[in-house]
Amino acid sequence: MIDLSGKVALVTGAASAGGLGFAGASIMAAQGASIFLTDLDGAAVEARAADLRAAGHKAVAMAQDVTDEAQWDAVRDAVLAEYGRIDILVNNAGIAVLRHMSEITAAEWHRQISVNLDSVFLGTRMAMAQMRAQGGGGSIINLSSVAGLIGLPGCGAYGASKGGVRLFTKSVALEVAADNIRINSIHPGMIMTDMQKVAIADNKDVYDQLVAVIPMGRLGEPKDIGNMVAFLASDEARYITGAEFTVDGGMVAQ
Ligand code: NAD
Repeated sequence: MIDLSGKVALVTGAASAGGLGFAGASIMAAQGASIFLTDLDGAAVEARAADLRAAGHKAVAMAQDVTDEAQWDAVRDAVLAEYGRIDILVNNAGIAVLRHMSEITAAEWHRQISVNLDSVFLGTRMAMAQMRAQGGGGSIINLSSVAGLIGLPGCGAYGASKGGVRLFTKSVALEVAADNIRINSIHPGMIMTDMQKVAIADNKDVYDQLVAVIPMGRLGEPKDIGNMVAFLASDEARYITGAEFTVDGGMVAQ
């Protein structure tokens, strides 16, 4: 039985009601965690925190650009002012620049790597320092992708960022294991969120190629990922670190 009572969870990129960040936050809140949400879109993420409070949970929110180092310090200070500790970090914020290499600009490439990979470095470094200062213990969960496991057309930049997240996670796991800080990556397949809708609108042929290779024959739902987030956040996962979890309807099993 997963119980997150007394734990404090910081979740980035949580502004969308139908996104993976809010799905994970909602499930963790229902299991007793105190929630701190951030996103580039400050008004929308505050609305999500209000949704959780209306459901009887503890939740606050703050605007944050996860690519900005100084803003991570401000977020840490705000979480500590509110709750006094950080037990769980979900590095969820991300963008998908799905461009074939003949089309992508250098600016798009750098933005992709900055939002999806630099952010995970900055957030992890902040959280592991804070968890160590608390005496150790904690769970860091990084949202990668199936595109961080296998090559996919149109995913050169996105896959590079998510593959980077995967191996970053494993290396850091070795450095913090003795402090009982766990860090794992989740690799969603195609989950129907706003990001997916934008990617589809942007590049329908890439979408058609991807959906054709899902053995379960459908997209996933945000709660399919949210449940994995909550499990990895919990003490039930206490012996799991440096691991990768594919949640994809069988997409990369082939
Ligand atoms: P989403 O677009 O619904 O949510 C992502 C959020 O990140 C948005 O609210 C956006 O405002 C925020 N964001 C973007 N840039 C930011 C920045 N610089 N600072 C702070 N916030 C920023 O996306 P989602 O589908 O919920 O995806 C969540 C994560 O899961 C992403 O890392 C994504 O790459 C990964 N993922 C999603 C899928 C999928 O099928 N939806 C598949 C694999 C991996």
